[in-house]
Amino acid sequence: MGKKRRIGLIMFLFVATALSLVAPASADSGIPVVLDLTNAGDAPVSLEGQWAFYWEDLLEPADFKTDVQDPSGFVHLPGAWNGYRLNGEPLPGQGYATYRLLVRMDPNRITSFKIPRILTAYRMWVDGQEVAAAGVVGRTFAESRPQYLTQQVFVKPGQEQTDIVIQVSNFHHRSGGILEHILAGPEDHIMSVTKTRLAYELFLFGSLMMMGIYHLVLFRYRKNERSLLYFALYCLMIGARTLLVGEIFLTQMFPFFSWEVAHKLQTLSYYGAVLILILFFRNVFPANIHGSVVKGSQWVVGLFAAVVLLTPARVFTRINPAFQVFTLLVSLYFLFILVQICRQKKPGALYIAFGYGFLIITVFHDMLFHSILMSDNRFLATLIRTGNLSSFGLLVFTVTHSFVLAMKYAHTFNENERITLDLMALNENLETLVEKRTEDLTASHQQIGMQKQALEKANRELELMSKKDGLTQVWNRRYFDEVLHHEWKRTMRFKQRLSLLFLDIDNFKDYNDQHGHQAGDRRLQQVAQTLQKQMKRSVDLVARYGGEEFVVLLTETDDHGTASMAETLRASVESLGVTVSVGVSSLVPSPQAEPEDLVFSADQAMYRAKRKGKNRVEHHMGLTGSSKQKP
Ligand code: GH3
Ligand code: MG
Ligand code: MG
Repeated sequence: MGKKRRIGLIMFLFVATALSLVAPASADSGIPVVLDLTNAGDAPVSLEGQWAFYWEDLLEPADFKTDVQDPSGFVHLPGAWNGYRLNGEPLPGQGYATYRLLVRMDPNRITSFKIPRILTAYRMWVDGQEVAAAGVVGRTFAESRPQYLTQQVFVKPGQEQTDIVIQVSNFHHRSGGILEHILAGPEDHIMSVTKTRLAYELFLFGSLMMMGIYHLVLFRYRKNERSLLYFALYCLMIGARTLLVGEIFLTQMFPFFSWEVAHKLQTLSYYGAVLILILFFRNVFPANIHGSVVKGSQWVVGLFAAVVLLTPARVFTRINPAFQVFTLLVSLYFLFILVQICRQKKPGALYIAFGYGFLIITVFHDMLFHSILMSDNRFLATLIRTGNLSSFGLLVFTVTHSFVLAMKYAHTFNENERITLDLMALNENLETLVEKRTEDLTASHQQIGMQKQALEKANRELELMSKKDGLTQVWNRRYFDEVLHHEWKRTMRFKQRLSLLFLDIDNFKDYNDQHGHQAGDRRLQQVAQTLQKQMKRSVDLVARYGGEEFVVLLTETDDHGTASMAETLRASVESLGVTVSVGVSSLVPSPQAEPEDLVFSADQAMYRAKRKGKNRVEHHMGLTGSSKQKP
């Protein structure tokens, strides 16, 4: 793949350039020790240049007054003494030395120096006055004590030239010497540099801590978003780290904070941050980052972290360059991945890529600054004047990433809102739908109720119809039979009298023949209504027995009442223009007799009335079980 080869080439070029910068220069000689700063303006200037260097000699200003001290050589500051060739031998990191510089400068202008951290202990004199110190300078490991302390000193420089002497010893770190710029300038300007840097670092510290805490809280409520946790830890680690680098504010607050512990924390936060960044990227772009990369990195970081934890700084600072190479490889891998991600147009990728690109550039910058690569390399030293850019790079990265996270959340919230609105609309629809359905249901329920009532009414009518005679609207034969049997049993139980009148219209065939069948029907109806009108008690019953024959059932009526009823009926029919023959039968029912006997005997009496000339009432005599009474 051409793409991979191209990336390989870029990596090669990068490493080659880095290595070419490592070649240590030899200690120069014959260059004047006097630095001319008389033309310096108000802005702080660096005491950068060749300093007389006395290796393994701790000299004080008095020593230079009494004797002419030949320097071991001249070294360029800022820069570590490591690798300087003295008598053909490169210097080790551990040891002690004295630096001396004569400066010509305007005493009214330059009244103050800004001293950076010096590896790893120092004493400083200006014109014979001791003005600053950090840690304890010593000739052996046991004699010396390391400390990183940035400070400002205020001096009264001489008219002619100023004599600066600095003793440095280092037995605790890989590199020894003065690796950062010593600044000179007017008091207020030097103070302002310090204030600006402190303000910047504390701003970084605060911002990163807040972002860390904010994302930690977010993670607390969104446990499945692992990336939030990684991001939070990353911010917190790098945030805490800002107090350990640059102005090293931690030492300002706690001057006796263990140098070893601070160094361990600083290194561990760096190693940890690299690993967490890998985990973070893996979490955000799982498809792009290979699992084996994560696993391998965990092993590498674990191993390095173990060395940091188990050994003192003078040992573990030696492995730092190896970890920087690892960081470089990881960074290049990420760069490659980010190009992929941008090409795939993943959401927020451009922001992350921008932030990450910024971070990588600043991290490289810092790594070079802190690394042996630029220990004494003049070219690099002119390019890189501070070792604290990566915190700013991180801030940019953090801000772009927060931006992406915020975008993601805003998107989620918008989605949520939209879905909620949809749901609400749906709910409303549902409500009206339910309302309508309920209305419909109620309506159909009412309808069913009405239908039920109608049905019941129809049923009742039907029942009635089944009991009534269609033509005459009096009870029909079927119902009469039912009532007769029922009344038979009841009157038998209460020993009451049951009477039956059998009425047959006389010569009705002739009537039909004379007036027509329709008129006959109307006459039948009139007869029925007339009979019905005569019934005074609700228990008395008129029924059409068949054709032009009617029956009347009377209960609890004595013979006299029955006879008079028969007579009344006969007379009332007669007034209509037709006549009836009536047969009467009456008895108190007994188990020996049947209801049909009552009908039969009344029928017989009726025939007797016919035979006797019609339009009369005849009583049946001598029926079984009946107590006879005189008519
Ligand atoms: P009698 O005095 O002997 O009873 O003479 P009758 O003509 O009444 O007797 P019959 O049994 O010979 O005839 C009964 C008649 O009643 C025959 C029929 O025309 C008439 N009839 C029976 N049912 C109805 C009916 O529903 N409507 C009409 N219009 N006439 C009917
Ligand atoms: Mg008849
Ligand atoms: Mg008849």
